[in-house]
Amino acid sequence: MAKVIVISSGKGGVGKTVTSINLASALNKLGKETILIDSNFTTPNVAINLGAPIIPITLNNVLQNKRTIFEAIYQHHSGTKMILPSLALKDLNGIKPELFVDSINELKKHADFIIIDSAAGLGREALFAFNVADEILIITNPENAAATDALKTIQIAEKLNKKTSVILTRKRQDKKELSTSDLADLLEQKLLAIIPEDNAIRESLYLRDAVIYTHPRSRATKAYLNLAKKIIKQQQVNI
Ligand code: ADP
Ligand code: MG
Repeated sequence: MAKVIVISSGKGGVGKTVTSINLASALNKLGKETILIDSNFTTPNVAINLGAPIIPITLNNVLQNKRTIFEAIYQHHSGTKMILPSLALKDLNGIKPELFVDSINELKKHADFIIIDSAAGLGREALFAFNVADEILIITNPENAAATDALKTIQIAEKLNKKTSVILTRKRQDKKELSTSDLADLLEQKLLAIIPEDNAIRESLYLRDAVIYTHPRSRATKAYLNLAKKIIKQQQVNI
């Protein structure tokens, strides 16, 4: 049975999509059956960041009850499997969001990990996937605004009785940013991972693949692989 991990944040542009792509790719590289899902219906970015061609069967088709979730699995050339929404806004017509839970429950039987990239903010689209989450990974940057918005996301997740963990991304090691300990104090939890600011990420976006493949020796790659190993270890403890 897969563990469903939802990647969330309050603030936009903090690294949710980059983390979703690289965590899913790292879990897949480490031999775990992993499926990456983009639940940003209005502004999907996973396909764009990975240079995925227009995929034939979308998550929209599944939620329109036209296709099964299994038919919507697309395998990227890197090997990572994913389920992606349509890039066209007109395909939002006829979507029944309530079909998502049942689809994920079916999919769970056939994978080790399901990683869901979600939208920014605390609106309906952002919280869409929270119901199916076994754990919510909250992404923040070392800045007050991002941390404050992360705290709100944690509070909402906790109200839904969801386990939360925090990942700090884009850490630069300078004095102008929030320190790791101040951030942990503010959010009242230890950080699960720290991903450094790394130009390799921007280059990987240009190359349209996960940084773990484009820059295997980069600091960001090491951090994402360590995160994946930690998550695998936690899963083994819980079984
Ligand atoms: P979100 O999904 O939260 O809106 P993205 O994952 O799209 O955010 O990241 C926003 C931008 O931040 C990316 O375009 C990328 O250039 C940059 N970025 C993300 N993580 C890093 C990092 N560790 N180092 C450098 N740049 C990063
Ligand atoms: Mg995003």
